[in-house]
Amino acid sequence: APSPGPIGAMLSRLAEERGTCAAFEFGERVTSYAQLHANSDAAARALLAGGCRPGARIGYLGKNNDRYFELLCAAAKAGMVIVPIGWRLTAPEIAFLIADAEVDLLFVEPAFHPIALAASEEAAPNIISVEQAVAEAPGYEEWRATGIAGAMVLPVVNPDEPVLQLYTSGTTGKPKGAMISHHNIYALRPICAAAGLGWDQWQVDDVSLVTMPVAHISGSGWGLVGLYNGAKSIVLPEFDAAAILHAVTTENISRIFLVPAAIQAVLRHPDAAKSDFSRLRYILYGASPIPLDLLREAIEVFGCGFVQNYGMTETCGTVVALPPEDHTVDGSQRMASAGRALPGVTLRVVDERLEAVPAGTTGEILIHSPTTMVGYWRRPKATAEALIDGWMRTGDAGYLDADGYLFVQDRLKDMIISGGENVYPAEVESALYAHPDVAEVAVIGVPDERWGEAVTAVVVPNGGTIDSGALLLWARERLASYKVPKRVIVRESLPRNASGKVLRRELREPFWAGRERGIN
Ligand code: ATP
Ligand code: MG
Repeated sequence: APSPGPIGAMLSRLAEERGTCAAFEFGERVTSYAQLHANSDAAARALLAGGCRPGARIGYLGKNNDRYFELLCAAAKAGMVIVPIGWRLTAPEIAFLIADAEVDLLFVEPAFHPIALAASEEAAPNIISVEQAVAEAPGYEEWRATGIAGAMVLPVVNPDEPVLQLYTSGTTGKPKGAMISHHNIYALRPICAAAGLGWDQWQVDDVSLVTMPVAHISGSGWGLVGLYNGAKSIVLPEFDAAAILHAVTTENISRIFLVPAAIQAVLRHPDAAKSDFSRLRYILYGASPIPLDLLREAIEVFGCGFVQNYGMTETCGTVVALPPEDHTVDGSQRMASAGRALPGVTLRVVDERLEAVPAGTTGEILIHSPTTMVGYWRRPKATAEALIDGWMRTGDAGYLDADGYLFVQDRLKDMIISGGENVYPAEVESALYAHPDVAEVAVIGVPDERWGEAVTAVVVPNGGTIDSGALLLWARERLASYKVPKRVIVRESLPRNASGKVLRRELREPFWAGRERGIN
């Protein structure tokens, strides 16, 4: 019999064991595991019937939708590659990704149809509307029916070939298409299951909430984790604090993945006070550094288990986790850690020559994991620089303690060298964030005659104004003198990308115009 690959095999097993249980709920639409298996089978055959060949790139442009996950399953069965494209990107960025990925067929939510048409003038993929038909684009069910009617035979799937092409967040530069194989995705499962930490053991009544964007690993990866565990995942179109609070209160949600900026928005929402968090078991968070004060507040308000995740698009998400028992509110050092390597994952911290440094010493974090991508799509040079003998260079600075806990300090590209000392912005941000007048803060290096780079804080005040002098005094009490900002700049908001990450390079840009920054 033709091999459906590990994801296809998992779906047929889930259809047998949990056929009548809901896999996805999206608005009114509930899809059982049996339906997911049958629908993705039909969609896989429709892809082939439409002329796409194994290895073809299938684009998805829209907000979160259960059909995106169905298409991911279909691509896996048809030996094709699904490429989710972030809808928050600008039209030229979307056009760049469609062209870069060489998308053959593009699934589009109706609202994004005009952008897709404009963007695909050059690349010109065929377009299918992911919901009802719109001008010139057939509707999803009509399209899928061509697979039910046809007699296309599903191919033998090579599990080392990519199935998901996920663009990195573009925090440090242009996004790169990380090619994630069937094996990479499937390896997430034993990694999480073998951790034996409790938070990874899902129960039959667990309900998961997918609210981070599917074009980011925090959305796609989290949806896949729900799938592995045969759980019900409720898919929200986009991050929306009010909708999350409503779902948590009324829908028995027990597990959510949120990025730190999303946790903050949920906590600050006026509905938070009247919401019921008693059914929440775990909140998983990660993707960017979290100020300790925000984490403490979240633990207190939500009252559930917290699990920090560290990983990247290139490692198909989580490879390091900090379990709930290490989240002690007494402010112990461990809570500032990202946790330990999950089973099957090895971490190494290295110097510039890529040689391992002793525990407690800062260096670049390298990851060895069965989830590590095959490479970047059409970027052999970037791939060769990032993947060395199977080790993924993260570009993150950090250290391991004697017990193997990883402390992520910050991105190497964002590190500030001031008066010859290395300053990691995340540490300064965490200290400033604790000040009651600070709503949001980003710390950057600005060129300076005397210091080389001057530590500079860009602050969004909490409501009113901010007293820079008082804030610097606060910083002086909490930070070594060389880490204390030389200057405070007040802004109304901070530039962030779709994964909620602050774009420090954009904040830095006007100060560095025309100048070379050593690290960047
Ligand atoms: P690009 O690579 O395009 O610049 P990006 O690195 O932001 O974008 P992602 O793959 O979404 O793209 O993010 C991975 C990065 O996010 C990590 O390398 C790290 O810098 C940061 N990160 C992830 N988890 C954590 C965490 N728990 N704590 C601190 N930083 C984290
Ligand atoms: Mg990156």
